[in-house]
Amino acid sequence: MAAGTLGNMKVVAYVALGSNLGDSQSIVLAAIKELSEKPGLRLLAQSGLFSSKPHEASGADYVNAVIALECSLNALELLQVTQDMELGYGRVRSFVNAPRTLDLDLIFYGSAKIQSPWLVVPHPRWAERAFVLKPLHCIAPHLVTHEMLEKVSAQVIERI
Ligand code: AMP
Repeated sequence: MAAGTLGNMKVVAYVALGSNLGDSQSIVLAAIKELSEKPGLRLLAQSGLFSSKPHEASGADYVNAVIALECSLNALELLQVTQDMELGYGRVRSFVNAPRTLDLDLIFYGSAKIQSPWLVVPHPRWAERAFVLKPLHCIAPHLVTHEMLEKVSAQVIERI
């Protein structure tokens, strides 16, 4: 059973949030609140906010956070919710890695491994990104090793 859920089965999903357009701190906090109030989702944990330099991109610094959600949606339903929210926050995909009002990445969906044209989970680049690893380490230290943090130590990121 890859992306689906059985009956009332609940899965812990990790979502990374980022924003570098507009009032990014308020946007990330509002998005966390909005996600946690969606049917089928419940907020289990929320990292603090971090500020990071754009990674392989240009523009203003990002505000980042990672949250853990108890989720009774299947993975594609969760992706749909996050993509609708990105659109709702006015993100325009003008070019690759363009600045974005709100970027939501599904990092983990329980222990599922998903390879579909729309969704790859675990997120293929999660372990290369300090802006995922540092906040994730705050709420799920068992998922992030010291070696992983060492590998991204050159990326500029700080707790806000
Ligand atoms: P991005 O521009 O980095 O937000 O990438 C968005 C695209 O990546 C969308 O077309 C998604 O369908 C796809 N995608 C694949 N895997 C994931 C994932 N784990 N989380 C979010 N988007 C994903």
